[in-house]
Amino acid sequence: MALVRVKSLTRLFDVSKPLLNRILERRGKAYLTAVSDVDFEVKERSTYALVGESGSGKSTIGRMLVGLLTPTEGTVEIEGVDLANETDAAKVDAIRSDIQMIFQDPFASLNPRWRVRDIIAEPVAARGGDTAGLAERLLEQVGLSVLDAGKFPHEFSGGQRQRICIARALASEPRLIVCDEPTSALDVSVQAQVLNLMSDLKDDFGLTYVLISHDLTVVRHMADRIGVLYLGRLVEEADPQSLFEDPKHPYTQMLLEAAPRMDGFGREIQPPEGEIPDPINPPPGCAFHPRCPIAQDVCTRERPRMRELGAARVACHLAE
Ligand code: SF4
Repeated sequence: MALVRVKSLTRLFDVSKPLLNRILERRGKAYLTAVSDVDFEVKERSTYALVGESGSGKSTIGRMLVGLLTPTEGTVEIEGVDLANETDAAKVDAIRSDIQMIFQDPFASLNPRWRVRDIIAEPVAARGGDTAGLAERLLEQVGLSVLDAGKFPHEFSGGQRQRICIARALASEPRLIVCDEPTSALDVSVQAQVLNLMSDLKDDFGLTYVLISHDLTVVRHMADRIGVLYLGRLVEEADPQSLFEDPKHPYTQMLLEAAPRMDGFGREIQPPEGEIPDPINPPPGCAFHPRCPIAQDVCTRERPRMRELGAARVACHLAE
């Protein structure tokens, strides 16, 4: 069963200059399309990874999933409830308590003046719930000590701080956790520990994750389904094995070519070629066509629709 249903999701940001400048320069309003017509579903107790370069819209989608941003068009349904349009406040409140978010920078998301005990228990205390022993229990579950409850965030390493963020996210017994680059601020040696912890907790707590990352290799072993984003558009979606062994979209192929490999010692890693186009003036047709090595005329005219191709869904006119 799908816990999350995203349909035709679009988000624009008004990036216009002030009115007086627009009048003097005879310019209209300008909009940045951060997310454009994105569809996907996340099954209960699964991990869905959203992957793309900086500016691909992945974090904007994450913020719409948790209700920090409203869609310009389209819908996000969690447990069948469209959070942006639901009028029953009690229903919205119940769903909101089922969703938590973990951010990239664990230090910035922890109040430096609060003790860890209060930080972890805060989401429950805010709803008037029972917080006795809660922080200590959760600290043990994320591999820290009960004695850490009395400390302040600056007394911990980056990896430990992210464990505290995970403990706080778990405090309200969520069903869905949206993780925005949860390990990219951490040392490589600590990243695997935090990802392993998240995997274990998923099983223990029956969690569903949406995992946002710029790095395909980070999500490979954790995701059940991977969605690849380019310039706010979903260009390919597949299970990890199909995506890594037989990528269909030229952009996915480029990302994989640029990814570090276990067998790649001594191999020079090429970054993805070309620049991401300006999202205020995206290219017509397929947004990837200025960088695509196999682009044809049709790619410059028509935006490719998502279609099923083997085990994947792909938005490319020429993918076979
Ligand atoms: Fe390349 Fe055309 Fe496919 Fe876009 S639609 S990825 S430009 S081949």
